Amino acid sequence: MMGAYMRNRPVLSGSAEPRKAWIIGSGIAGLAAAFYMIRDGGMKGEDITILDTMHIEGGSLDGAGDPENGYIIRAAAR
Ligand SMILES: Cc1cc2nc3c(=O)[nH]c(=O)nc-3n(C[C@H](O)[C@H](O)[C@H](O)COP(=O)(O)OP(=O)(O)OC[C@H]3O[C@@H](n4cnc5c(N)ncnc54)[C@H](O)[C@@H]3O)c2cc1C
Repeated sequence: MMGAYMRNRPVLSGSAEPRKAWIIGSGIAGLAAAFYMIRDGGMKGEDITILDTMHIEGGSLDGAGDPENGYIIRAAAR
């Protein structure tokens, strides 16, 4: 599936440093925000912090996994 914005690749006007981002909520909206900050905003992942009240990322998509075995997300978390 290809959305309209996926074809857009903004030209960076400068370095994103020393900006930091704090995203509240690790649902798909928060994860997408982080993705585009990295891909289009030129931010480093280490400069982005995602906060969530739950013990696992993904929000309603119910994330699971780890760096060694990979990640999955599914619906019906709540
Ligand atoms: C049972 C179910 C089935 C679904 N099926 C589909 C489907 O088939 N197709 C489809 O397109 N969509 C489906 N959806 C909808 C889809 O999952 C949601 O629209 C989407 O995941 C919402 O993402 P979000 O990031 O906006 O919010 P959420 O996934 O709700 O994430 C918000 C996150 O923010 C955290 N949070 C909230 N407030 C705070 C706070 N003050 N401080 C810290 N953290 C906070 C929450 O803990 C949560 O992790 C389904 C949803 C459910 C519940």
